[in-house]
Amino acid sequence: MTIYSGPVFDMARRQFGVIADYLEIPEAERDWLLQPKRAIAVSCPVRRDDGGVSVFQGYRVQHHLALGPTKGGTRFSASLDIGEVAALAVWMSWKCALAGLPYGGAKGGVAVDPYTLSRRELEGVSRRYMQEMIPFVGPQVDVMAPDMGTNEQVMAWFMDTYSMYRGSAVPEIVTGKPVELGGTLGRREATGRGLAFLVGRAMERMGIAPGGATAIVQGYGNVGGVAARALSERGLRVLGVSDHTAAYHDPGGLDIDAIDRHVAKTGFLAGYSTQSLIDPEALLTMPCDVLAPCAVERVVTHVNADQIKCRILAEGANGPTTPGADLVFEQRKTEMFVIPDILCNAGGVIVSYFEWVQDLQQYYWGESEVAEKLHLALERSLHNVETRAKRDGLSNRTAAMAIGVEKVRKAMQLRGLFP
Ligand code: GLU
Repeated sequence: MTIYSGPVFDMARRQFGVIADYLEIPEAERDWLLQPKRAIAVSCPVRRDDGGVSVFQGYRVQHHLALGPTKGGTRFSASLDIGEVAALAVWMSWKCALAGLPYGGAKGGVAVDPYTLSRRELEGVSRRYMQEMIPFVGPQVDVMAPDMGTNEQVMAWFMDTYSMYRGSAVPEIVTGKPVELGGTLGRREATGRGLAFLVGRAMERMGIAPGGATAIVQGYGNVGGVAARALSERGLRVLGVSDHTAAYHDPGGLDIDAIDRHVAKTGFLAGYSTQSLIDPEALLTMPCDVLAPCAVERVVTHVNADQIKCRILAEGANGPTTPGADLVFEQRKTEMFVIPDILCNAGGVIVSYFEWVQDLQQYYWGESEVAEKLHLALERSLHNVETRAKRDGLSNRTAAMAIGVEKVRKAMQLRGLFP
């Protein structure tokens, strides 16, 4: 029996099964590695603007504690449940281990649609959630960060709530904070820019020249929005973009500056234009060199995988591709370069780690130093993944996850299991 169920956790379990088979991990050890160490569920009562009270469910799952504090984002989303949070925590573990960060994985969030809240109510949810989590987090215990539906301001409220409880400023309790509060330069852009950097490397491998190359980006938040800009700055033509409000496609290329101005004003893609609208599902299967799913889990599945026409799949989101789709891509290994999520979007947590280190030392770096160290870390991870994939004839995903799982397994074995 387990409390973790649902399609997203099933997917994390199935992916892990593939790796565990390949690494020949004995059955008895599999639960030890996969089952999260801790899960916290809290009720967050929040005073509404109309005087009433709403109670929102909050979660935090800490996957393993073998290597250091746990680390991971906080998601505000209406459909959030403990299975999804647990899957995301497990993926954070493999991601941190692949990048060589001294963290276990965690993830948390609140089952609330943040766009239905006023700013005051959003602050109420954020503060109440952190307040409820105080006994279970800490700079050496579990360090939160932004994820879908949260941002720098939410991190500032988290930091303030925790610091008020401690009686002094504790910037190292969260990453992804505003720079003015001890956040690092380059964190906001890190995930999207890291994605574009890795796409650059993948294009070299595939012999695709940036001039004339094309991209489609699904999701236009902090990951997709920055990725679209970074790809266009690298000379790619962005043919399509979408978020949960609208999808646009123009074979001649979209005007990213104009789209960014619209999003900066309204928050969403909806209303940008009445031309070039396209069905969001159809956008994923339009021809392009680079397809970057940067929104939610399970959008590339066994149903649409054989219609995906990109040459590089750059997974900005966590878990956008199901194991069923992976089986289809396995047959197309030579014609398609998959940059798996735990590598492709690792820029975010890598720069979160830099932020934590700077906060602990009270010594802050310049933006170019952050970018340089980020590129080095991504280059190293990519090299490790490609070397392993080539050596054992694996897909990039299997190679990346195997490296992550192996590192966690080794740490757990060395620490041992006391009676
Ligand atoms: N939420 C991001 C992720 O999924 C960032 C986590 C972090 O920076 O701790 O990787």
